[in-house]
Amino acid sequence: MHTTTNPQRIGHWVDNQPFAGTSERAAPVTDPATGAVTREVALAHEGDARAVIEAAAAAFPAWRDTSLAKRTAIVFRFRELLNARKEELAAIITAEHGKVLSDALGEVTRGQEVVEFACGMPHLLKGAFSENVSTGVDVHSVRRPLGVVGIIAPFNFPAMVPMWFFPLAVAAGNTVVLKPSEKAPSAALWLAELWAEAGLPAGVFNVLQGDKVAVDEVLTHKTVKAVSFVGSTPVAQYVYATATAHGKRVQALGGAKNHAVVLPDADLDTAADALVGAGFGSAGERCMAISAVVAVGDVADDLVGRIAERARALRTGDGTRGCDMGPLVTAAHRDRVAGYVDRAEAEGATLVVDGREVTADGAPDGFWLGPTLVDHVTTDMSCYTDEIFGPVLSVLRVDTYDEALDLVNANPFGNGTALFTNDGGAARRFNNEVEVGMVGINVPIPVPTAYYSFGGWKNSLFGDSHAHGTEGVHFFTRGKVVTTRWRTPAEGGVDLGFPQNV
Ligand code: NAD
Repeated sequence: MHTTTNPQRIGHWVDNQPFAGTSERAAPVTDPATGAVTREVALAHEGDARAVIEAAAAAFPAWRDTSLAKRTAIVFRFRELLNARKEELAAIITAEHGKVLSDALGEVTRGQEVVEFACGMPHLLKGAFSENVSTGVDVHSVRRPLGVVGIIAPFNFPAMVPMWFFPLAVAAGNTVVLKPSEKAPSAALWLAELWAEAGLPAGVFNVLQGDKVAVDEVLTHKTVKAVSFVGSTPVAQYVYATATAHGKRVQALGGAKNHAVVLPDADLDTAADALVGAGFGSAGERCMAISAVVAVGDVADDLVGRIAERARALRTGDGTRGCDMGPLVTAAHRDRVAGYVDRAEAEGATLVVDGREVTADGAPDGFWLGPTLVDHVTTDMSCYTDEIFGPVLSVLRVDTYDEALDLVNANPFGNGTALFTNDGGAARRFNNEVEVGMVGINVPIPVPTAYYSFGGWKNSLFGDSHAHGTEGVHFFTRGKVVTTRWRTPAEGGVDLGFPQNV
């Protein structure tokens, strides 16, 4: 099955070794800070995808039956290796995604939290036992792994998003096929090698490179039992519909439009600091980025001034040079985001800081777009209606808390939101009334820690289970309840009545 690998071509990973596959198709991989094509990534055909999935299926029975102690020891070793070598992974992320190194390191650290949570799998999988529920009858419950699980990841968190899922899937006894984004394919291979070094048996963790062809095979192959997807909403809807139609358990996390509501009593310097970080960190390419600021009452002019001052002071440039903000992921994406800025201006919004004019600290052909602040945005403008996924912060002005709440709740997305206030009563009311899955009070990017679950509402998530936390453990396992009786022959006898507890 394994053919020789070409160093210029990023391939798959199967049975703890590189796998080139036989597909002729490939996509370019670029360094967003220089614009240069650095390598190419293999795009699997159906046969390559099946080979990867079938390797995972073959490894499942032995891994399922490996003791909890042995499984957990490997996860623990993986955590130790990751912790010791995370700078290597951060450098890989920066080279393909463009985000600044400190941010890449932050992403790895948040993913590592889930690995640490997965080290507690023996406790998380503990069932219940009830003695003597009927005379001489005991009942206990267990949670069993599912089999092969597919993880389909977006470009914007090449390490953290896969780590939302695979530590729990592996620790619970499943085998994994990870399909990374073709824009940032190398982090997955680095993680796969780390698993091998940690002692994970061959076939338990596999990487499948590709596009829709590879994804479709994962969504339809009969041995894949569950699919965790993260990406844009249209693709999430497609993945959810297709994989559920093929009998799979699916959690499909989609896009976002995250609002920050700033009440008149908020501390405006604190709010401006937080909004600049949340709007422009990772060049706005975060599903939890704040892209819409809802200024309530008379704070708008003052708030916009403070955000603008901070945005203008940011250094955009090469992620390896200590800049604040890196490039966008591809030239096409940079142009798409810049197109939203053009349209906002044409639709009558006020451009306060224009990122199209940025002078970046980096190569001339990098995919640059500086922080952009747009004021007087209304809900019918395309910079508000669409997920832009770039460093563009829109400010909408409303008169009252109720108007702000209605605006947030009318949006079709419901991933994250934040409220800035010093009023505990208002915060409590917002927590209760807002229709969004993750809420921050004076916290701009409220990504839950690993032992809680991550996920939005409405068009930001399709399926019932959020990622990691106890919902993640449940997603990757299914329950079984066992009823036991040890009768002596003297107690025997046929009884056709429905069993009752007596
Ligand atoms: P994307 O939807 O383009 O791609 C995601 C994955 O789906 C990739 O692996 C890609 O190869 C695959 N894919 C793309 N088109 C496909 C198709 N037609 N059929 C089958 N598979 C396909 O998303 P992206 O641009 O890589 O990532 C950015 C998006 O992800 C944003 O919308 C962002 O909000 C979202 N995101 C959401 C979360 C969340 O937790 N809700 C987290 C991170 C990113």
